Amino acid sequence: MLDIKEYLKPNTVQSAYEMGQMPNSLYVSGGLMVAQLKISSVERLVDLKGVGLSHIEDHGNAFKIGANAKISDLISNPSLNINGDFIKIALKEIGSTQIRNMATLGGSIAFKLGWSDVITIFMVLNSNLEIYDGKFSEISLETYAKKSMKGAIITAVEVPKTEGIAVFEKFAKSNFDIATLNLGLKIVLDGQIVKDARVVVGSRPMVSQRIKEVEEFLIGKHIKSASKDACDLIEKVIQVGSDIRASTNYRKALSKSLLDKALRRVQL
Ligand SMILES: Cc1cc2nc3c(=O)[nH]c(=O)nc-3n(C[C@H](O)[C@H](O)[C@H](O)COP(=O)(O)OP(=O)(O)OC[C@H]3O[C@@H](n4cnc5c(N)ncnc54)[C@H](O)[C@@H]3O)c2cc1C
Repeated sequence: MLDIKEYLKPNTVQSAYEMGQMPNSLYVSGGLMVAQLKISSVERLVDLKGVGLSHIEDHGNAFKIGANAKISDLISNPSLNINGDFIKIALKEIGSTQIRNMATLGGSIAFKLGWSDVITIFMVLNSNLEIYDGKFSEISLETYAKKSMKGAIITAVEVPKTEGIAVFEKFAKSNFDIATLNLGLKIVLDGQIVKDARVVVGSRPMVSQRIKEVEEFLIGKHIKSASKDACDLIEKVIQVGSDIRASTNYRKALSKSLLDKALRRVQL
């Protein structure tokens, strides 16, 4: 349990950041993960909900989604069409309706949970984050996932509108369980030839990562004939570990099977 002595609700990103720099402060958005933390040193919560940031805007070549938008806001937004219905279908795989009604996009990314479906889904779409750490800047989600950015506030997620077909696959022990492994695949086809490919795997159990060897292997190949070898390759090159949910070998085998399913779906 947290032993909170002070709760602050700033109304600008700048003041939230300043409060977040005070010793023993922690940001809170949806609060789902914060409620479960057991860090005795945290004394002050800085609630980000007062700063707005729940917009979902169409900027022509990209969608800009405020960090405080809830997962369910994204699912129900009629104009948020990213690679067809990909984002809506994929986000429905997250937890339960109650979880999706509380979890924010920013909080789901900032925690860098290894088993995050959100990170895999947005990384496969080549998303960028808008960050405030005294000044506004942009960073790719892929870089953010690898980097420590303590104290920085995610203010928005920018999702480029690109061609191609994207699919998300998740293996979990039950409908509401977190992923044993998840996989995002985005393919651009020229007829049957792969023009571009992006493969992201999460819950390895480490944080989501692109599998560049498989992406490079697929590009330029006939999708049907290359699928089997791509699946053999992912099992060989993927870096996975073992934890309470699955062993290393089990995860390797799962990566092959999830990629196989995903490749079949993009060919439908
Ligand atoms: C029962 C359960 C089931 C779940 N199932 C799934 C699942 O199937 N798939 C999945 O992907 N996720 C799942 N989740 C995770 C859930 O999506 C995350 O808890 C949630 O996304 C965190 O978002 P939040 O808004 O509640 O963040 P909070 O709990 O408020 O914050 C999380 C962390 O991020 C920091 N933070 C919050 N907002 C920002 C910001 N804008 N900028 C910088 N730092 C920030 C906080 O300081 C804290 O460290 C599950 C969670 C629960 C409790």
